[in-house]
Amino acid sequence: MASIMYFLQSSLDRYRHISWNTFENDMLLKGEVSKVIIIPNREMVCVFLQPGAIVNGRKAADPEHFYYSLKVSDVNKVEEKIRNLEKGMGIPLGQGTSITYERRSECVPVAIALISCVMLGLFVFMMKSLSSSISTFNPTNIAQTKAKYVRVDKIAKQGRGITFKDVAGLHEAKVEIMEFVDYLKRPEKFKSIGARIPKGALLLGPPGCGKTLLAKAVANEAEVPFLAMAGSDFVEMIGGLGASRVRDLFKDARENSPCIVYIDEIDAIGRSRGGQNVAEGSGEGEQTLNQLLVEMDGMGSTQGVIMLASTNRADILDKALLRPGRFDRHILIDLPTLQERRETFDLYLKKLKTASPAVNYIENLAQLSPGMSGADIANICNEAALYAARHKKKAIDVSDFDYAVERVIAGVAKKSTVLSQMEKKILAYHEAGHALVGWLLEHTDVLLKVTIVPRTSKALGFAQYMPKENVLYSKDELFDKMCMAMGGRVAESLTFNTVSQGAQDDLSRITKMAYLQIRELGMNDKVGPVSYGVENEANVKPYSMYLGQVIDEEARILIAKSYKATEKILRENKEKLRVISEALLEKECLSYKDMEELVGPPTFGKKSPLTSEWDEKKND
Ligand code: ADP
Repeated sequence: MASIMYFLQSSLDRYRHISWNTFENDMLLKGEVSKVIIIPNREMVCVFLQPGAIVNGRKAADPEHFYYSLKVSDVNKVEEKIRNLEKGMGIPLGQGTSITYERRSECVPVAIALISCVMLGLFVFMMKSLSSSISTFNPTNIAQTKAKYVRVDKIAKQGRGITFKDVAGLHEAKVEIMEFVDYLKRPEKFKSIGARIPKGALLLGPPGCGKTLLAKAVANEAEVPFLAMAGSDFVEMIGGLGASRVRDLFKDARENSPCIVYIDEIDAIGRSRGGQNVAEGSGEGEQTLNQLLVEMDGMGSTQGVIMLASTNRADILDKALLRPGRFDRHILIDLPTLQERRETFDLYLKKLKTASPAVNYIENLAQLSPGMSGADIANICNEAALYAARHKKKAIDVSDFDYAVERVIAGVAKKSTVLSQMEKKILAYHEAGHALVGWLLEHTDVLLKVTIVPRTSKALGFAQYMPKENVLYSKDELFDKMCMAMGGRVAESLTFNTVSQGAQDDLSRITKMAYLQIRELGMNDKVGPVSYGVENEANVKPYSMYLGQVIDEEARILIAKSYKATEKILRENKEKLRVISEALLEKECLSYKDMEELVGPPTFGKKSPLTSEWDEKKND
């Protein structure tokens, strides 16, 4: 701005050339000069007069904007000449005209003028764009931003759609969800006997289990328009926009009726109102949710529109959203069971080129993947294919699948982690402790593999087990599980007479299991058959201090009991522990079959559900 001002100022400045005589006689000697600026490099002198000065009988122009310039041949002598003249007039030294020197480049004014021009241009441009953006920043314009939903059914018609055949398992969910489609297609069938048609279904369950996939399949199978939108698409910083998009979506839905409206990850807008759970910028969030509730309730007028939504955070959803009349049906899409895992592997293996027929792998892979979601299974198949391709194989074999399973469970082996010989030994005994206790006890999970190769998941070693699919655990089973978790710590302590921090994870699991049995599962005689659940948010225990102490005491006793039992087992089988640890140190990885060869079959009979062919081939 300063240069702009300078530019404007200098354009206003005017001057007139005068001769030295005029300066001397008409100005200096008459006492009209207020200051003199000498510009040596231009051999120029600028003369500024007193306000109201008279030159040649006329009043001079305002000295603020007008000066006189004179060219001199020797600027160095100008000051001396002026001082001599003043001396002659009797003006004492120090009280004469102010004389200053200035150095100005020829280019400076031009450069300044140029820069100023550019800046002025920029300034004008900015002002213009600002004013134009102000004119676009119109709340009504924003409110008109349409809901960006996808017509999935149209994509499906182009042959790119997903059908029920692409969704493995989830048989009950498929039946339930197709009932909704039936309502839309044949409402008379239900209305004739007075049934009220449900308004919406909420697909709940852990991530990666196929909620979105199922919804996409419905879009194809339903043969009605399917408008899909993600919950996060409603979330905006601008007030009222979310609500307006909800209105838009339902308006279009009504126009397309009968149709299905699907909102993915509805927790983005459906978080419970009030309290701490409200999303930041809650005003806008609440408004959007309210609008959704209104639209769903007001569906008396929107006959033929069915809402589907999915979330893996049903716990944080607003209760109003979950009540009958809104999302009437809750369809749980849970982690796949063994049979569902078989079907999912079957689906994905069909798409791969496997060394032997896919059916040979399905059973083993399904057994190897308890607790995995459909997305994990898809990932295993893809990782196996990538691994095989990386090794220039023509087809995927057992070793590729084994690698992929391990990678999904524990991450890739991290070769760069360097462990000292002693650390390796401690690790080997720790893992061997877990493996051996599990091998010798009755109710423990099947050990599939134990390794001491550090993983990218930060685990230094890991043992892969195959948990049973049962849903009910007895007291004895839980106790055996505690002992197996304790195996690592006890093995370290027995062998090295000291313990490392490596057991922290195990200890935390053991403590949780102990408290679970005593406080929640009613499995302790002293505390009795009570269930207190977990402490509430304020950390207030829902029982008396005395009972709290009893629970703590009993948990400690139970943990100590499991420690003693584990210690007894490992003491009695110290040689087996040594054999396994040495083998682990040497091979870094042991399979079920290796364990069998080293210490004989498990005490309570063969446990591995894997075919021996798998066990033999995977390390090829
Ligand atoms: P979410 O439950 O989190 O919505 P998705 O439906 O997005 O999970 O599933 C993610 C991916 O996992 C799918 O694209 C698909 O590849 C795979 N998947 C999950 N469940 C199944 C299933 N039952 N059948 C086939 N693939 C599945």
